[in-house]
Amino acid sequence: MSTAHAPVLAPKAPSLASERRYWAPEIETRSRAEWDAQSLRLLQAHLRYAYGNAPYYRARFDAARVHPDDVRSLDDLRRFPLLDKGVLRARQQAVPLLGDLAAVPEDEVVYVSASSGSTGVPTLSPFTAGDFDDWIDFEARLFWASGLRPSDRYAHSLNFSLFVGGPCVLGAQKLGALSIHAGTVPSDRLLAILRQFQATAMWTTPSYAWYLGETAAKEGIDPRRDLAVRRIFVAGEPGGSIPETRARIEALWGARVYDYYGLSDIFGACAGMCEERQGLHWAEDHILVEVLDPLTGEPVAEGERGELVLTTLRKRARPLIRFRVGDIVSFTSEPCACGRTSKRLLGVHGRVDDMLIIRGVNIFPSDIEAIVRKDHDFTGEYRLVVERVDHLDALSVEVEHRAGLNTPPEALAARLRGQIKAVTGVGARVVVLAPDSLPRATHKAKRIDDRRTGVWTA
Ligand SMILES: [Zn+2]
Repeated sequence: MSTAHAPVLAPKAPSLASERRYWAPEIETRSRAEWDAQSLRLLQAHLRYAYGNAPYYRARFDAARVHPDDVRSLDDLRRFPLLDKGVLRARQQAVPLLGDLAAVPEDEVVYVSASSGSTGVPTLSPFTAGDFDDWIDFEARLFWASGLRPSDRYAHSLNFSLFVGGPCVLGAQKLGALSIHAGTVPSDRLLAILRQFQATAMWTTPSYAWYLGETAAKEGIDPRRDLAVRRIFVAGEPGGSIPETRARIEALWGARVYDYYGLSDIFGACAGMCEERQGLHWAEDHILVEVLDPLTGEPVAEGERGELVLTTLRKRARPLIRFRVGDIVSFTSEPCACGRTSKRLLGVHGRVDDMLIIRGVNIFPSDIEAIVRKDHDFTGEYRLVVERVDHLDALSVEVEHRAGLNTPPEALAARLRGQIKAVTGVGARVVVLAPDSLPRATHKAKRIDDRRTGVWTA
């Protein structure tokens, strides 16, 4: 790619409508009591709807001796059985095409996303026209809260092939931004698109934003000078909620990074960061959140880590009642400095499956990521290797020193080992590699090599 400057496009002039602070102030700034009252009302109706229209729920609730009419408070939901991905997969195979959690005939389904799924057949997630419109409507609201405006040129660089992140671009379009359906294209092509359009915002995974910024630099393009991207939306990995990771991406791009959270089984985005970036505002009018201790199933206190369990509140095609997402998260219901009052996801710390138990201590890759990325003598890439040595778990952390550094690797390793021990309480072997030794992610980074099971995760 030529490094000659593209003709500089002037930013579009913001219109008066762009100065509006909230997309839907009557929703976004309501009181906690109003949120909870609405959640209860929607939950009661939604449980009745699921029971009355989806054969799976009728059978399951009857077997568990619970009935929607018994729900008088939000706490009553806890008497209903949990659901997980295995159930979705099994019911889809038992009752093709969409499984018997679906509550409408296939004729009413207009869109289906598929989760890539690490094992077996992808599970399908159906939407009615109304479900789809609801989603795009609150997607625009989340984007607005992140500062996206009609004056932006927004490049959507996510996969469009059955992936639920694809249609999120329509939220930007609904908001009025010039929306560039870039998709997942080779990095030189994407850089060319960003340059031609002088895109002011884009969405990728955190690893890819990092990779793309580094790739640009290697090709003589300085994203801060030669590109116009000032907002980067990220999702799909914990990195977007780790301040150290955001800071490294922001330094490369001269842009602000906003973390988003979504899942194929529900909506492409369920929550997103506002300008304050103190957590992700949850679309609480569509999805009810529980955070449970993965071992006891009891709710954890606000701010504590627990497993995310979600219940849809309006989705007609396929209600999900108490769906175990498999992510370990923390939440707050404190109002945000931005004036919005919805619950905020404080962070996704990892998958339940990625929780490494090293000699009895729980560790997530995101814990190590925060440490490695704070220290600028390292490139920020890392990999965790877990082995069993003499019947004991042994954690190795592989990192790369930055180019041109003269500090002896042993000294770097000792320093990082000390920081990991201080923060996590776990002693780790640190292996310092040359720059560019570790594989670069173009989608989701593989960060864990757990040789105790021989399976790649994360
Ligand atoms: Zn906020």
